[in-house]
Amino acid sequence: APPGRTSRDVPRVLAIAGSDPSGGAGIQADLKSIAAHGGYGMAAITALTAQNTTGVRGVHVPPATFLSAQLDAVSDDIQVDAVKIGMLGDAHVIAAVRGWLEKVRPGVVVVDPVLVATSGDRLLQESAEAALGELLPLADLITPNLPELAMLLGEPEAADWPAALDQGRRLAARTGATVLVKGGHLNGSTCPDALVNTAGLLSAEVVEFAGERISTRNSHGTGCSLSSAMATAQARLGDWEASLRAVKPWLAGALRTSGQLEVGAGNGPINH
Ligand code: PLP
Repeated sequence: APPGRTSRDVPRVLAIAGSDPSGGAGIQADLKSIAAHGGYGMAAITALTAQNTTGVRGVHVPPATFLSAQLDAVSDDIQVDAVKIGMLGDAHVIAAVRGWLEKVRPGVVVVDPVLVATSGDRLLQESAEAALGELLPLADLITPNLPELAMLLGEPEAADWPAALDQGRRLAARTGATVLVKGGHLNGSTCPDALVNTAGLLSAEVVEFAGERISTRNSHGTGCSLSSAMATAQARLGDWEASLRAVKPWLAGALRTSGQLEVGAGNGPINH
């Protein structure tokens, strides 16, 4: 830790997610984001992807027993202050993560319900969507984008912000978790976000955060980075609203300055 920071100030944050070898999304984005928010980053890899900024060429999901071995190796030795869960791949992986969460009960669990990449490639087998739904009640915070929110509910995608908030309320009621509803997939000049919880855990059932839309084609890994940042901030602050207030300007800066990077010809990374 830098001078003046004791280990007590550095939350130990474990990302359980897939690898993006081009560094923009997945576990690579998670580790950069955890570091940017002052956490000690750890990574248990659920799946390997062969991908770059133009799309996903292949997915390899190692045996779930080996993911369990990674998770146990970490938690047998290291106190895990927060967990961020991203790409899971298939139902065996989901079962392994679920068993480990029930055993270890980490203090902060953020689930980014990754289903399909922006490029259109599936990152979770369709047959595993029901198993993902059963994992969600173990989350403290769920961070779906609007297509994922709709798919989790089995409803059409929200066409406007009020409809998105209604869907957020339904997912919060169903899971007991707090839901971060993200306006990034809506059209228009604003880009609001909201924290939604129906169990009385927030200062109001819906807490909205205004934001302006940042126009860039480099948005690869935005969701991964945001969910890891929230896990890290929450481990330190213990308050989702304060965490989102801290994280949002960082994410806006990473999007605004993404053009400074020259990484690939497709949907490039944000400047984590
Ligand atoms: N690759 C991995 C391993 C991911 O976990 C994710 C998203 O969570 C993506 C790719 C998708 O990134 P994007 O949709 O931002 O391009």
